[in-house]
Amino acid sequence: MHRCTLFKKLAGKKVQCTACRHACIIPEGNSGICAVRMNKDGVLYLLVYGKASAIHTDPVEKKPLFHFLPGSKILSVGTVGCNFGCDFCQNWDLSQASKEVKKRLLQEKQQELLDVEVSEFGYELSPQKIVETCVREKIPAIAYTYNEPVIFFEYAFDTMKLAKKEGMKNIFVSNGYESEEALDKMKGYLDAMNIDLKSFNEDFYRSLCKAKLAPVLETIKHAHKLGIWLEITTLVIPGKNDSDEELGQIAAFIAAVDKNIPWHVTAFHPEYKMDNVSPTPKESLLRAYDIGKNAGLHFVYVGNILDDEHSSTYCPKCKTVLIKRSWHDVTVMKDFKNETCNCGERIAGVWS
Ligand code: SF4
Repeated sequence: MHRCTLFKKLAGKKVQCTACRHACIIPEGNSGICAVRMNKDGVLYLLVYGKASAIHTDPVEKKPLFHFLPGSKILSVGTVGCNFGCDFCQNWDLSQASKEVKKRLLQEKQQELLDVEVSEFGYELSPQKIVETCVREKIPAIAYTYNEPVIFFEYAFDTMKLAKKEGMKNIFVSNGYESEEALDKMKGYLDAMNIDLKSFNEDFYRSLCKAKLAPVLETIKHAHKLGIWLEITTLVIPGKNDSDEELGQIAAFIAAVDKNIPWHVTAFHPEYKMDNVSPTPKESLLRAYDIGKNAGLHFVYVGNILDDEHSSTYCPKCKTVLIKRSWHDVTVMKDFKNETCNCGERIAGVWS
């Protein structure tokens, strides 16, 4: 257990968590929606500090980030818990684990045991150990991923600060619910985010994710304002968010923030509570690709399917292929040097 930094004390030993946009008000002895931040005696504690439940070395393209240190290996770290409850979650065994424990303990009227039970997930992995591993293995960046990282803000932020001292970069793979306070604190430490914009429909967010759309849009705008490198992902789910109208709304929103933000349109595979929905046909991803391009986005990529043509990077001005991708294999072409196409066009991204 680790004392949180992002919370306010309220009357009657209640606290308000300020890590994410749910802004949970938590009575003494209870936890917030994510079930990893618990009020004990009027102080908020993070139950998963230094408790990694998943750690892997991945290509950065897997996050997906296509305009950020292409071809690099990154260390991916996550804990249990999430502030969303997506019916189609691909990591539900991690993301929903703490909530399942909370549900059972509430039924048994033993919620005071949440800290003991949740801290049993994962294994001890301090911020120092994470950074030492990266230094030893010559890994240039850490991704806080698998579950929503802002819920373990203090663990991630302590790791980020140490990583920066070693000249490394930090990445959030996020559902976009960070509070402005959390984002502001990470300015200068957080280099890149891949944010899911799962839909442009309030009902979708409410019924399938147990969250709201507007806060996600605010986070995207605020992160962009802070100068954090942003890429956006939309998992295209048949019959749920794949209409021309909705894909067009998403693309138009991103283009209004910045046409240089890459948009990843990725294929859904039946999962968790949505194992009865068909996988995304390739035609839907190509349709989304065209919609993104027609909205003026400079970089649109299809994902979770093999399609070299629609996952490579082209110069938005002269259309020369600059980075070829085949699944996670990356070839930077000779026409792309010093962040610039041969034609003189600077390509947005973090390239070194
Ligand atoms: S991180 Fe979000 S969901 Fe978790 S306690 Fe804080 S405000 Fe609530």
